[in-house]
Amino acid sequence: MLQEPITKLSGVGEKRAQALADLGIETIENLLNYYPFRYDDIKERNLAEINDQEKVTIKGVVVSPPVVNRFGYKKSRLQFRMMQDHDVFSVSFFNQPYLKDKIVLSEDIAVFGKWDGKRKSLTGMKILGAKQEGDFAPIYHVSKAVRQQTLVDLIKKAFVHFGDQIEENLPLSLIEKYRLMEKKEAMYAMHFPNTPEEHHQAKRRVVFEEFFLFQMKIQGLKKEEKSEKHGIVIDYDVERVKAFTQKLPFSLTNAQKRVTNEICRDLLQAKHMQRLLQGDVGSGKTVVAAIALYAAVTAGFQGALMVPTEILAQQHLASLNQLFDPLEIHTALLTSSTKAKERQEIIEKLQQGEIDVVVGTHSLIQEGVDFSNLGLVITDEQHRFGVNQRRGLREKGFQPDVLFMTATPIPRTLAITAYGEMDVSVIDEMPAGRLPVKTHWIKRGQLEDALKNARLELEKGQQMYVICPLIEESESLDVQNAVELYEELKDFFSPNFVVGLLHGKIKAEEKEEIMGAFKDNEIQVLVSTTVIEVGVDVPNATTMLIIDADRFGLAQLHQLRGRVGRGQQASSCILVANPKNELGKERMKIMTETNNGFLLSQKDLELRGPGEVFGFKQSGLPEFVAADIVADANILEVAKDEAQSLWHKKNWQLLPEYAGLLAYLKEKDPENQFFD
Ligand code: ADP
Ligand code: MG
Repeated sequence: MLQEPITKLSGVGEKRAQALADLGIETIENLLNYYPFRYDDIKERNLAEINDQEKVTIKGVVVSPPVVNRFGYKKSRLQFRMMQDHDVFSVSFFNQPYLKDKIVLSEDIAVFGKWDGKRKSLTGMKILGAKQEGDFAPIYHVSKAVRQQTLVDLIKKAFVHFGDQIEENLPLSLIEKYRLMEKKEAMYAMHFPNTPEEHHQAKRRVVFEEFFLFQMKIQGLKKEEKSEKHGIVIDYDVERVKAFTQKLPFSLTNAQKRVTNEICRDLLQAKHMQRLLQGDVGSGKTVVAAIALYAAVTAGFQGALMVPTEILAQQHLASLNQLFDPLEIHTALLTSSTKAKERQEIIEKLQQGEIDVVVGTHSLIQEGVDFSNLGLVITDEQHRFGVNQRRGLREKGFQPDVLFMTATPIPRTLAITAYGEMDVSVIDEMPAGRLPVKTHWIKRGQLEDALKNARLELEKGQQMYVICPLIEESESLDVQNAVELYEELKDFFSPNFVVGLLHGKIKAEEKEEIMGAFKDNEIQVLVSTTVIEVGVDVPNATTMLIIDADRFGLAQLHQLRGRVGRGQQASSCILVANPKNELGKERMKIMTETNNGFLLSQKDLELRGPGEVFGFKQSGLPEFVAADIVADANILEVAKDEAQSLWHKKNWQLLPEYAGLLAYLKEKDPENQFFD
């Protein structure tokens, strides 16, 4: 069995097994899947065609006996001469005196090393065996305890003893349709390709397989969620909901109307809603959430809105309370700083159904919080919640419908992977009359001028945010930075304007007070670390100044920028940064060139990887061995479509063609009943 421990391989004892485990290799299968990250081209080359400093393999005859010179502590140089055709040249190995025995006068030898064209000499890196298979030597990530050659030997051995157990897990139809290499052949060629083309084909197969198997899982999940045995019918009062939307202080954009309809249609159906609502910053997701919650309440259900931060919870509750009639909809706030007594009251009212809509942070899913009739759960900026937390909340009700709202637009490839089991609604239109935020990038030396300009804005009655970066390594340094900046700005803006400060160490109550004062324009300049990042809505603020902007992800900068440009006045975002390299400069430039969040998050994905788009490491993304959602985006699309269409095939699990696939999926995921 490929699942057998690596110790089943002869030559792997306890100690070596431990060293391999440190590399993540515990089973035979792990070993076979431990692919090299690059290959050295070790094709034999002719002296005449080699360039200076090129790494090459040269084959020839040893024409002088090897000599070892020792110098210094543990240092040595092994030297001999080689001849290829009629050219003689010298070869040196440094600090590998033990190679001397392998170099025999008058015998053939192949040496891999770096060619010095001027001196006509080779600095040897390794001596290749007489029988060299293939022209490419795999290079693995290794450790002190496991060396390259050891891995190569073990992998070859594993193929000899276990290779026959590698079974095809893709259906023949797909293999033929996409001309894929067979599994065993591809796995071998991933390690030991004969040509670049062979490697390319092997990789294509392995990547397709990874994406396809993963999509089989999430498309199965999606199908299951959509079946009618889960979920509830939220038979809302159409007339009341209509009246509610007509009373809103603005008319909905067409995009808002469209997504609202999509959501309402889901509510009515018995299937379990799992919908992702995407929209750029400021596109107006909150009001869509409000309508959905209102609809659920008219059907006699409770709704919950879950957000990642305390400030955002307060803000959302305030927004909802502005939209809802307090006599009609009873709301409540439940966060970690809710006092015990009040918390108890809220919990009781939730149980008795006296609260219709509750807004909160993680506290909502803690033990002891129960609902009388939870019908709809909405999470805002949901990627900050882990899968288990989402599930925890769902389990409190009778399979409530779930709407996920994202703060940051997510590139399609990421959405397919991280949220593949969900339906997607997109708000692709901004409310009318919005002036786009003008973005400027300045160097630190120009900060004073920027502040003077900002003061002119304040004199017109506007307000401003100043963001200082979060210093991840040290929270206290972070706070210190923010405090220093705050002091400087206080000096600069006083006595005419009030400067406020928000950072991670400030208590929740005080934060609330400061945010409130900013909202009421008692504070004109708000200095903050990224705690205000998400969702805060103060339309009178028109300047966003971000210090050391190059330390943020593009999506995050865009999110921050979205805090301004919410009212009728022209707004600006000023990025202060002296980036050290071209990439940094490019990132700042892109920010000044586009206001399109989807485009920016795509760029972020390309430049900094998936974790950065989500703004944190634990993004819920699966780890692929060979596949890369950016580089292999095309294959991802195809694999998703194929998985989807297979799930549409009735009872595919019973067809012989899919027996291998089914067996593999079950083995990898024994608890998953969708494959039964
Ligand atoms: P986000 O999608 O970033 O969460 P919000 O829901 O916070 O956006 O909305 C941003 C601002 O736009 C809010 O002040 C909201 O009241 C306003 N808004 C939302 N929809 C409309 C609309 N259709 N017309 C005018 N203003 C709107
Ligand atoms: Mg929002």
